Amino acid sequence: MSGILEDLLEIVGSRASSSIVERRCYAADASQIEGLPDYVVRPKSTNEVSRILRLCSRHQVPVTPRGAGTGLSGGASPVKGGLVLDMSSMNRIIDIDIANLQVIVEPGVVQERLNLALKPYGFFFPPDPGSSAVCTIGGMISNNSSGMRCVKYGTTRSYVLDLEAVLADGRVIHTGSKVLKSAAGYDLTRLFTGSEGTLGVITRAGLKIVPLPRSRRLVLACFEDAVIAGQAVLMVFSSGITPSACEILDKTTCQVLKRCDPKLAIPDDGDLILFEVDGPENSTVKECLHIAEICSPLALDVRVAKSQQEMDAIWAARRLVGAAVAKIDPAKTRIYMGEDVGVPMSQIPALIKRVQHITAKLDIPAMKYGHIGDGNLHIALFIDVMNEDQWEKLRIAADRIHKAALELGGTVSTEHGIGLARAQYMPEQVGQEALQVMRSIKRALDPNGILNPGKLGL
Ligand SMILES: Cc1cc2nc3c(=O)[nH]c(=O)nc-3n(C[C@H](O)[C@H](O)[C@H](O)COP(=O)(O)OP(=O)(O)OC[C@H]3O[C@@H](n4cnc5c(N)ncnc54)[C@H](O)[C@@H]3O)c2cc1C
Repeated sequence: MSGILEDLLEIVGSRASSSIVERRCYAADASQIEGLPDYVVRPKSTNEVSRILRLCSRHQVPVTPRGAGTGLSGGASPVKGGLVLDMSSMNRIIDIDIANLQVIVEPGVVQERLNLALKPYGFFFPPDPGSSAVCTIGGMISNNSSGMRCVKYGTTRSYVLDLEAVLADGRVIHTGSKVLKSAAGYDLTRLFTGSEGTLGVITRAGLKIVPLPRSRRLVLACFEDAVIAGQAVLMVFSSGITPSACEILDKTTCQVLKRCDPKLAIPDDGDLILFEVDGPENSTVKECLHIAEICSPLALDVRVAKSQQEMDAIWAARRLVGAAVAKIDPAKTRIYMGEDVGVPMSQIPALIKRVQHITAKLDIPAMKYGHIGDGNLHIALFIDVMNEDQWEKLRIAADRIHKAALELGGTVSTEHGIGLARAQYMPEQVGQEALQVMRSIKRALDPNGILNPGKLGL
């Protein structure tokens, strides 16, 4: 690979580096998976990305695109070395086009910044991962990220209208247009969304936006156990109400949050479901009462949040869960494995039971929380990282959790992506034939396999 640094410097100047300090900083995303890159490059334009990819294709240098590196599956970890392409400097909001209900952005725009820019217009971009203060639109599109409000609004995929992408050989394509719907051939926009940087580098995106709801209300329903909570969720959805968020925080999660903020008005002796509804004032009031009525016979306690401040405090705490879990036991560390499974709605109670059984049998402390309204359960497993036996138990637990989700007709990843962490499950997840089709697509677009090699089980 000698010689390419000089070419990189010629393309992007001092925004290319092979210093060991920078290379170490780009070795991993937020997962445990790492690999040392040979170069780090921060392009600022599509033209630079195109020239870099042409160069890398010629020299067969692996390229791992990276947004903010908050991914939890090793997606942005350069496991085959080569070059990390840090897209965070391409961070312009190019056009806020309210008349056409869309925005055009570069991939390095951070989700929360986009929504702050849209707020004065009374619009928003709904997909909202827990990492939204940091993660980039490029990373969200590549992982088809979602979050708490996707139960009503859909995942990132539902909002991507057009992508500008640079292919492995440096060609630049557009996958869509400014229209809100189109029936023109293969849907390349959908193909690139969720492709985890394996098909091309996204350099620009046209995204649909929607008006901010006029009001939001929150019902807190506490249940004796998560299985009953899961049943209540099914009953609410079957009644015809689609909450704008429907989150579960199990007993342990509630206790941990109370330890972080004792003033927080949540119960700590049951499994809590947060049902949020949004829309016109009169309809949110009506839906809240209806949810409370449905949950009451099953719940230990049901109440509606009293004020906007209370709602804000509860949602802020919910967003902290990923980090707050450190409080569960200072001697233990949360490891992101088996953390993102999902099942069809009707199988939620069965999944919860299976996870309880798996973690109890292996004696691994676990917290369960997540977007139960779309069948997505996050499981936080804790171990003493100095204890090899516990690592072994953790690996067994994660594997059994993944297999349980598959057996229940679900998925090993609902939103964090496959990356390398879950690549081994791809044959079972999508089927051997479908995986072969994916490999053919990959070969057609990236014949030398330079784009994010080692990922997605390809
Ligand atoms: C505390 C915490 C909470 C989280 N909560 C959620 C959640 O609620 N929902 C959720 O969905 N995820 C969540 N995540 C996971 C993660 O934040 C998301 O997947 C996020 O969208 C990744 O964005 P990023 O900019 O950090 O991307 P990165 O981690 O940098 O990259 C992710 C993938 O995208 C590819 N990529 C990045 N930019 C480009 C580009 N321009 N072109 C082509 N490929 C590219 C990378 O190669 C990689 O495969 C959470 C993570 C953390 C740490």
